[in-house]
Amino acid sequence: MTISFNRPTVTGNELRYIQEALDKFHVSGDGMFSKRCSAWLEEKVGVRRALLTHSCTAGLEMAALLCDLGPGDEVIMPSFTFVSTANAVVLRGAVPVFVDIRRDSLNIDESLIEAAITPRTKAIIVVHYAGVACEMDAVMEVARRHDLFVIEDAAQALRAFYRGRPLGSIGDFAALSFHETKNFISGEGGALLINDTAHVARAEILREKGTNRSSFLRGEVDKYTWVDVGSSFLPSDIIAAFLWAQFEQAESLQAGRRALWNRYHEGFESLEKAGAVRRPIIPDGCDHNAHLYYLLLPDLAARNRLIASLRDREIHAPFHYVPLHSAPAGLKFARTHGSLPVTDDVAARLLRMPLWHAMTKEPDQVIEAVHLLLR
Ligand SMILES: *Cc1c(COP(=O)(O)O)cnc(C)c1O
Repeated sequence: MTISFNRPTVTGNELRYIQEALDKFHVSGDGMFSKRCSAWLEEKVGVRRALLTHSCTAGLEMAALLCDLGPGDEVIMPSFTFVSTANAVVLRGAVPVFVDIRRDSLNIDESLIEAAITPRTKAIIVVHYAGVACEMDAVMEVARRHDLFVIEDAAQALRAFYRGRPLGSIGDFAALSFHETKNFISGEGGALLINDTAHVARAEILREKGTNRSSFLRGEVDKYTWVDVGSSFLPSDIIAAFLWAQFEQAESLQAGRRALWNRYHEGFESLEKAGAVRRPIIPDGCDHNAHLYYLLLPDLAARNRLIASLRDREIHAPFHYVPLHSAPAGLKFARTHGSLPVTDDVAARLLRMPLWHAMTKEPDQVIEAVHLLLR
C-alpha cells in the first residue's frame, strides 16, 4: 500500500456549502462564505482585517505593495523558505537580503537581522517554518528601532502561537495559505491579515483591481471607479464555501493533526537517542500547530539513501526547500548577508514525513520502516 506525502483534508461539508453558494446566486468574490471566513480569521487570529486572497503568494504580493516597496529597497528574510516570500519583493523591483536560520527552530536567526540592515532596508519578512514561531519579541524590537515593516509569512502557521499570541497577529501584515498541503485548505487559497487599520482601505482597493468597489458595496460611496494600482486578488465564494467547511471544524482538525505529530515524535525518540536522527525542536514559548513533521539525518547521503529506500516501500517522504540564495533566480535577484552555513547544512539533511488528516495506521508503518532502514 502506497503512503503518499499529502492527501487533501476533507471534512464532509464542502460540497454542501458550495451548493449553498450556488443557491444564493453568488459565486464571485466576497459573498456570504467569504464574509464568514474573514470574520472567523479576524476573531481567531485577533487582527483588524482579514482579506481572503487566491493564495498566500497573492497575500505576500499585496503586503509588498502596501509597504510601498520600490526599486533598490531591501527586505531581510531567510533563504530557507518558499519562492513566493522572495518573489513578492522582487516583483516590486526590491532586493531580498538573505540571512541564516537558527539550528533549533530552522527559523530566521533574529540575532543576525540588525547587522544586515542598510539605509535601503524597508521590511523584514519572517517565516514561521513548520508552524513554529520565530522569536517575534526580538524581531519586533529591532524593526521598531529601525522603523521597518514586519511581514509574517504565516503560510504554515494558522492556529499556532508565540508566547500566547496567535501567529499572524504580531507583524504589520501576515499572509496565510490554504493550499492543499496546509492544515486548513481550499485547494488553492490564502489571506492577507492586517493589524493596523490605517492600511485597510488601500488593501481593499489593491485587491479589487485598483477600484473602490469594496466601499461602494458597503454604500460608502455612490459609484465605484479606478483610484489606485491593483490586481484581482480575491477568490470566488465557491473557494470560501470549501474553506468554511474546514474552519468550522478547525479544533478537531488541529487535534487530529497534533496526535499524528506526537505519534511521530514518540516513535522517533529512540532513534534520536541513538544519534541516528534529530527530531524537531520547539523552543520555549512556541505553541506549534503540527503543520509538518521532519527529521534531520546525519548528512546528505544518508538523507538521500533514506528517501530512496522509503520510496522502494512506496512511502513518499520528500526533502524540502532548495535554499533560495543558491537558486538561479536567487543569484540574479537577491543578495546574501554573510554566509548561511545552517541553511545549507539543514536543507541537505532534512526529510519530511507523510502527514495528513485521514491517516490511521500509516504513521506506525512509516516509523517502523524508518527504524528498520536506519538500523
Ligand atoms: C505554501 C507556502 C507559500 C505559498 O502558498 P500559496 O498559497 O501556494 O501561494 C508561501 N510561503 C510558505 C512559507 C509556504 O509554506
